[in-house]
Amino acid sequence: MTTDLYTEDFKDTPWWWEAAPTSDADDELPEETEVAVVGGGFAGLSTALELARNDTEVVVLEAEAFGHGASSRNGGAVSGTNVGKGTSGAGNSPVERALGAEKMRELLAGGGQAMANLETLVEREGIDCDYARRGRFTGAYTPTHYALMAHKVAQLNAGGEAEAALLPRSEQRREIATDFYFGGMTIERAGGVHPAKLQMGLLRRCRELGVRLRSHAPVTGIARDGAGFVVTTSVGSLRARQVVVGTNGYTGRLTPWLRRRLIPAASYIIATEEMPEDRVRALIPNDRVISDSKRVLNYYRLAPDGRRVLFGGRARLAAGDPRDCVPILYRQMLDVFPQLQGVRVSHAWTGGIAFTFDFLPHMGVHDGVHYMAGCNGSGVAMMTYLGTQTAQKILGQQNRPCAFDGLGFPSRPFYTGHPWFLPLVSGYYALRDRMDRAAAG
Ligand SMILES: Cc1cc2nc3c(=O)[nH]c(=O)nc-3n(C[C@H](O)[C@H](O)[C@H](O)COP(=O)(O)OP(=O)(O)OC[C@H]3O[C@@H](n4cnc5c(N)ncnc54)[C@H](O)[C@@H]3O)c2cc1C
Repeated sequence: MTTDLYTEDFKDTPWWWEAAPTSDADDELPEETEVAVVGGGFAGLSTALELARNDTEVVVLEAEAFGHGASSRNGGAVSGTNVGKGTSGAGNSPVERALGAEKMRELLAGGGQAMANLETLVEREGIDCDYARRGRFTGAYTPTHYALMAHKVAQLNAGGEAEAALLPRSEQRREIATDFYFGGMTIERAGGVHPAKLQMGLLRRCRELGVRLRSHAPVTGIARDGAGFVVTTSVGSLRARQVVVGTNGYTGRLTPWLRRRLIPAASYIIATEEMPEDRVRALIPNDRVISDSKRVLNYYRLAPDGRRVLFGGRARLAAGDPRDCVPILYRQMLDVFPQLQGVRVSHAWTGGIAFTFDFLPHMGVHDGVHYMAGCNGSGVAMMTYLGTQTAQKILGQQNRPCAFDGLGFPSRPFYTGHPWFLPLVSGYYALRDRMDRAAAG
């Protein structure tokens, strides 16, 4: 791959940051607060916002600039049906068997509530973030995957609102200008957002409601202090009656119990240079967010202004230089859209996500500290929802416990949070994808 691949002004930061860059905040730390929130992404800010709306004092402590985490780096696909990854919908996966059909239905309904929560929040708070509910298309990478999608469609529709449907290969071009997939499924309950504008909007609303915000203040200790906690940061300490941790893919030594339950991984995105709008819109005529059924999946979409393609994937699962993944993602983009040959890349970036051993998102309390974590790659709606739910739990306002609260949260013997096995796993998954595709002919 030559340097012709890159525009002259290529950047290794998110294209989203052109419109909504990261920002600093230096509110003075109070001696005491009702709630201290660790992490200033969707999870932390939505917790703070809900608390502040209910007249509760909150301080949000962010290790870097606000917007540093995955919340302003993601693909902006909003999904209400992403619960239970790794489940087939046929009821036969280990997670489905362990939880049982009823709990699984409850969790799937929780996915729908997560999306509704995001839509309510965007509208109620007047956040200008290019949100549009235009649905998703998931391409089947092999004919077998297409056949299995029938179970998934049935599972999603059993809950009522997903409006999922199979789309045979013969009609695929209605959704996407490619013959790369063997058909796929459409899901109406999905949408797209400008994630960095959403992050910025949440931050603005928190500020307006009096939340104290402090960037570049990594929390280094949380210690019990009577009925509350002392929270220590690099810029000072404060007492808090309650502590909430929303660090997801950036969870570190601060919370070893949580770290043992999360598998941090990286995801990567490239943005193409600007192109004429009609050329871009012809690629995905209904402007849906797209993903596929590969083990090492790709996800992509049009930029909200319809002038470029944003193409993402787990080009490798381990964190690394986004430039190293450009040739991989570019090749994958051309597999789907050979008509983009020659188009240059203007941005490439990466961010941290967190898998769980049961592929489910979790919220709960450990040693008195609230947490929400485990986005499994899709947390725009989910982590925002778990933040809102955690706040409502603290406020004692929940009508009933959140479906994701207090689930058994598995780890593995001897696992301490260092995912040494990721390169092996991603290599193995990529090989299995290639074998499946080769077998499909
Ligand atoms: C490239 C990429 C593409 C993605 N695409 C999608 C998508 O299309 N759709 C979707 O639904 N999801 C997607 N995701 C996942 C989604 O972005 C995340 O699930 C979501 O943003 C997680 O939000 P969060 O608030 O939990 O964590 P984050 O936004 O990651 O925030 C965690 C914050 O905690 C801070 N922190 C960590 N430790 C400390 C400490 N000790 N003290 C203070 N602060 C600390 C970090 O600096 C960070 O800012 C993607 C993620 C990536 C990286």
